[in-house]
Amino acid sequence: MNTIRAGEAFAVHDFGHIVASRPLDVLAPRSGAEVRDLVSFADRHRLPVSARGCGLAPYGQGRADGGYVVDMGALDQVRCVPGERTLVAGAGATWDQVVRAALAVGLVPPVLPDHLGASVGGVLSTGGLGASSHRCGLVADWVTEVEVVTGGGERLVCSQGQRADLFRAVLAGLGQCALILRATLRLEPAPGLVRRYRLYHDDPGTYFSDQRRLARDSRFTHVVGRARPALGGGWRYMIEAVAPHGGELPCVDDLLIGDLGHDRDCEEIEDLSYAEYLHRPDRDERLLRATGEWDRPHPWLALLLPEEVAESFVPGILAEPEQRGLRACGAVQLRPLTARALRAPLLRRPAGELLCLLTLMRTAPHADPEAVRRMVAANRALYERARAVGGVLHPVSALAMTPEDWRSHFGPTWADLAHAKGRYDPNSLLTRGYGLWA
Ligand SMILES: Cc1cc2nc3c(=O)[nH]c(=O)nc-3n(C[C@H](O)[C@H](O)[C@H](O)COP(=O)(O)OP(=O)(O)OC[C@H]3O[C@@H](n4cnc5c(N)ncnc54)[C@H](O)[C@@H]3O)c2cc1C
Repeated sequence: MNTIRAGEAFAVHDFGHIVASRPLDVLAPRSGAEVRDLVSFADRHRLPVSARGCGLAPYGQGRADGGYVVDMGALDQVRCVPGERTLVAGAGATWDQVVRAALAVGLVPPVLPDHLGASVGGVLSTGGLGASSHRCGLVADWVTEVEVVTGGGERLVCSQGQRADLFRAVLAGLGQCALILRATLRLEPAPGLVRRYRLYHDDPGTYFSDQRRLARDSRFTHVVGRARPALGGGWRYMIEAVAPHGGELPCVDDLLIGDLGHDRDCEEIEDLSYAEYLHRPDRDERLLRATGEWDRPHPWLALLLPEEVAESFVPGILAEPEQRGLRACGAVQLRPLTARALRAPLLRRPAGELLCLLTLMRTAPHADPEAVRRMVAANRALYERARAVGGVLHPVSALAMTPEDWRSHFGPTWADLAHAKGRYDPNSLLTRGYGLWA
């Protein structure tokens, strides 16, 4: 094996800072052949292996206790093929690298995660949701081909037309059957300018009714929401919606927002370049890094809810004392989704056409394991309540799932996943951090 060793501290913690990894070693292969050699070696010795992209997982999902963490950072080549409107990205490239290469030729992936600092492999393994997901589905839904190394140590290329079972098992497949080496993504023309609307609602009822309308009629290309603490208690809701415009500043605002129920005195309307819009979280990240919040424990919870449930579930839980910490630290994100747009079968979703992703982005105090324990326990309790009303976990969350939980999570797709696991990772070496198998 010809890999180099990465710094060990690198792979011990992830963004969650809750579950530490205890690998035998952290290796940084410089090619797909080296990844294959490493996984084959691990397979012969029955040692666990996990890929490590940018380490933004919240709960040790990328750990490989007693085995090898594979730092994918060196596999970061990005090549755009403008004539075919495609881009080939190494699994260790960040979405920021992808965006820069695509925008340079006037193109962009139809869906991008909000935060562009994660790796291509890390996001495709969870599916990837972004502000245009209500129209365009998952980031992974725009992948046409992937090259992988399976748990059995085979280096294979797969797509809809070639080894379709492996292709389906890899996208949103939580790294269970193979490590992604590179992916080919479809691109579309990028808008030059966008107009961004921030619309505030005091009443959750009007907020959810507007969110529903915007998810259905696609008048905006991008829609996300937030709940924010209101002065004097309670919560205020904000829709952030974006439409491309040609730069000649036509007066279309009334057409786009005239029928919505927000507070008209507070609406914010702003024109941005598309690149500025895509990099919108950068400022927040700089701020969180400067205050030290970025490096504190993050017991995040993400739940996919049927839209009709979200309207009472979200205000209900935000009013509870257990969630009080979110008022002072962290954020609450809401994302409207439509089921028909979500194509990768392993991304589990509730029944019904309209869905809402609720993400509680909690931050715990430093050096207070009891507070972290309480927040993780609160995540478990909320997950069970969400399940009881038809909700589903989005696996970018900090809570321990049992194999039984996973079996019920995957429901009708469990048999396909288990079959692919038996075929492509027969010794169950890959990505044990999710705890799918007993
Ligand atoms: C601030 C912030 C904002 C976020 N915003 C979004 C968002 O808008 N949309 C969204 O969908 N997600 C979002 N996420 C979640 C994030 O995209 C996922 O946690 C993603 O998996 C992180 O990728 P990573 O490269 O950092 O992976 P890591 O933490 O390194 O790994 C995450 C998981 O992916 C596996 N993995 C990594 N690389 C590979 C590979 N090449 N092949 C197979 N498996 C692999 C790892 O083993 C691990 O299980 C956000 C997270 C943070 C912290």
